[in-house]
Amino acid sequence: MAGRNHLFIPGPTNTPHEVLSAMHVPMEDHRSPIFPKLLKPVLEDLKKIFRTETGQAFIFPATGTAGWEVAITNTLNPGDKVLIYRFGQFSHLWMNMAERLGLDVEMHEVEWGKGIPLDDLETRLKVDSSHEIKAILATHNETSTGVTSDIGGVRKAMDAASHPALLFVDGVSSIASIEFLMDDWGVDSAISGSQKGFMLPAGLAILAFSQKALKLTETATFPRCFLDLKDQMAQNALGYTPYTAATPMIHGLKKSLELLLEEGMENIYTRHARLAEGVRRAIAAWGLDLCAQPGFESDTVSAIVVPEDKDAKDVISTAFNKYNISLGAGLTEVAGKVFRIGHIGDMNDVSLLGAIAGVEMAMLDNGFDITPGSGVAAAIEYYRSTAK
Ligand SMILES: *Cc1c(COP(=O)(O)O)cnc(C)c1O
Repeated sequence: MAGRNHLFIPGPTNTPHEVLSAMHVPMEDHRSPIFPKLLKPVLEDLKKIFRTETGQAFIFPATGTAGWEVAITNTLNPGDKVLIYRFGQFSHLWMNMAERLGLDVEMHEVEWGKGIPLDDLETRLKVDSSHEIKAILATHNETSTGVTSDIGGVRKAMDAASHPALLFVDGVSSIASIEFLMDDWGVDSAISGSQKGFMLPAGLAILAFSQKALKLTETATFPRCFLDLKDQMAQNALGYTPYTAATPMIHGLKKSLELLLEEGMENIYTRHARLAEGVRRAIAAWGLDLCAQPGFESDTVSAIVVPEDKDAKDVISTAFNKYNISLGAGLTEVAGKVFRIGHIGDMNDVSLLGAIAGVEMAMLDNGFDITPGSGVAAAIEYYRSTAK
């Protein structure tokens, strides 16, 4: 098919041309005396994305999933109790990992479409007067349902209960896109990956840890080797990595950090919020609903619920086969019930209008009762009236 494939999945996201070009480099000596000049500024600049001055940033040649494992195994001990709210596929998988690693997992089910219930959390923490709960595993942006939880609110609930648990946050689909304030929210481990807001290929787990969490690496008894933060810290201090560095990825990351910091974090958050609002206007004009309940809408991904007599998989396959656009599928519990439009990373009004138009065509082809052009019209009016 002529023309490009249009990628509107919430990860991997579109990689800007400048980033791709920056990655197109010959292989180099990662033990050379000049390698630290590449790595050290990247690790420093990452802190500006996580919004931390007191924490420390790390990269592993891995993905976000490994980031979860780095957080758990470097700070906790087998059998420790952790608290997790499950409201989508990613919070489910993180819970599953915690169980498989041998933690004592206290899981609270939340309806898919909602996020972390703050009152419930505060009540639970207040009851835990002996502080058995060692960590809270919070999924900031649940990519499978398009739900954003209030992490600042989680910190407030913890403080209200004077609870000393660690706060781990999966920010894989939020960091570098929607507001994430590591220091202000007292996050102990912030977990991300290269292929979402950082606009790179998959291949790096991108993480930040608080000093409180880093201290625990001395005493944590989980067996670990490749994912040991102590090895990273020792080598990073010299500007090196404990094993072969993914050098082209680091060049790409350097460029993506340049682009992000040039745009500015506040501007990035505003851009994602505005793009997302245009998509939400289109969805409303189609007469459809988000999976996310009011107050939980994500600015990086919208999961759209199809009418009961329709299968979301048909929309996705028509969109791909007929119009060459990639949408996100519904996962497990919402498979067939939702499809997702990713609006994260390297995205602007006109790119996203392509997604809205393509979705509209695919829905019409599948007999959806919508007015042709209605979603596009709602989005363009919103974008026109809010463009600078
Ligand atoms: C994509 C994603 C992950 C998984 O990351 P991988 O890089 O595929 O390991 C975890 N959590 C969330 C919220 C995600 O969106």
